[in-house]
Amino acid sequence: MEVSKNEVVIIGGGIAGLTCAIELENRGIRPLILEATDRVGGRVKTDHKEGYLFDHGFQVLLTAYPEAQQYLNYEKLGLKTFDPGAVIYDGNGQYEISDPLRNPASVFSMAFSPVGGVGDKLKMAKLASAVKKQRLEVLFSKGEVTTLAYLRNYGFSERIISNFFKPFFGGIYLENELGTSSRMFEFVFKMFSEGSAAIPAKGMEEIPKQLQSQLKHTDFRFNTRVKQVSNEVVLENGESLKPKKVVIATQPEAIMDGFDDKPTYQSVLNLYFSCNRQAIKKPLIGLVTGANELINNFCDLTTISSDYSPSGKRLISVSVNDDQNIEVQDAVIQELAELTGFGSTDFEFLASYHIPKALPVNHDLKYDMAATEVKLHDDIFLAGDYLLNASLNAAMLSGRRAAEAVSSSLSGSLF
Ligand SMILES: Cc1cc2nc3c(=O)[nH]c(=O)nc-3n(C[C@H](O)[C@H](O)[C@H](O)COP(=O)(O)OP(=O)(O)OC[C@H]3O[C@@H](n4cnc5c(N)ncnc54)[C@H](O)[C@@H]3O)c2cc1C
Repeated sequence: MEVSKNEVVIIGGGIAGLTCAIELENRGIRPLILEATDRVGGRVKTDHKEGYLFDHGFQVLLTAYPEAQQYLNYEKLGLKTFDPGAVIYDGNGQYEISDPLRNPASVFSMAFSPVGGVGDKLKMAKLASAVKKQRLEVLFSKGEVTTLAYLRNYGFSERIISNFFKPFFGGIYLENELGTSSRMFEFVFKMFSEGSAAIPAKGMEEIPKQLQSQLKHTDFRFNTRVKQVSNEVVLENGESLKPKKVVIATQPEAIMDGFDDKPTYQSVLNLYFSCNRQAIKKPLIGLVTGANELINNFCDLTTISSDYSPSGKRLISVSVNDDQNIEVQDAVIQELAELTGFGSTDFEFLASYHIPKALPVNHDLKYDMAATEVKLHDDIFLAGDYLLNASLNAAMLSGRRAAEAVSSSLSGSLF
């Protein structure tokens, strides 16, 4: 295909834009990425400060993601995996549950488990075996209800919903009411039951960096914000470009006319503290179940990867879903001290990240879409997690579909 350099412009150098560029290069196309910030990664970034690694919000890669397996070299990322399970902090103390999604029976190994009852145990086993057998496309084609309604319809007790599902999935969805689609629930459940949660040893930004390193014929313009897309691409500095094809790899409403619905997002407040003592002894996430607690989950990142903190120090990440008040560090330290049994002086506040547009809130979640569906009009194509579901897997898959559509359109074979 004869396409000159930069005749395809991708707006946004997040996971979707980078994957799109990889797939365009695979088809002999050399795109230009316009990125508003100073580097690639989008929502997946890591700041390096005084020997600490601060990811922009606590997030993990699920190793079972089919798209991640295709585009990432896990070994080179030096992935550090979490043990399956969690430490639950319920106000009365802490207890560990091992492998609840891969091996649901293990949650209930104690005769009188504080997590749930015998009926819950059987239902967990049934659900795990059902989602494991079903293909992802099938999970996403089922009717949608909220995760909370799904769990209740399935017959789970209020005890296991409060003690396990709410803190665990609330931390993933970044909302405590489990209002997120049941399709996302089954997807995440399946991914956890087939693989591990992991972070690259040197921070989440290693993921987009590894995608970027695969690009040999893509040009980048950083600190370059697009203002308007119509029959040309107008930059904030007034410059305008006239590429043959444009991929908008971010939500398009801010830069294109004709979108009536304003997108909504889940937000999160992520705080970092240093600590001289190991807050969680095993590589497990800490889930906080109390309705009145600020903390949804926390993690001793140094237990997962020692590169996250300078020697002799530990890095504690805390996620607060309800972020009405972002000046909460003192109250969070107080809570951490109560939960861990440490003194409040054991924790020192380091940094906080308030992320108002963390996850897009969507209905009718999809796993995949046809290349024809990402075409907005003749020369404009869409990519981004918001088109499918809020995950790294979806961002990658949407990028691939956009590249396929652009390539077909350039060769005249699309529609
Ligand atoms: C706190 C948090 C926790 C998460 N947890 C997980 C998790 O555990 N597992 C998981 O799979 N996913 C998780 N996610 C979701 C995952 O990070 C996203 O699905 C994914 O990064 C989205 O990638 P994207 O390329 O679609 O969008 P983005 O990352 O938003 O990329 C869009 C890019 O476009 C750029 N841009 C925007 N407007 C313009 C403009 N006008 N001009 C030029 N450039 C522009 C932006 O700067 C950005 O770089 C989490 C996200 C957050 C924030």
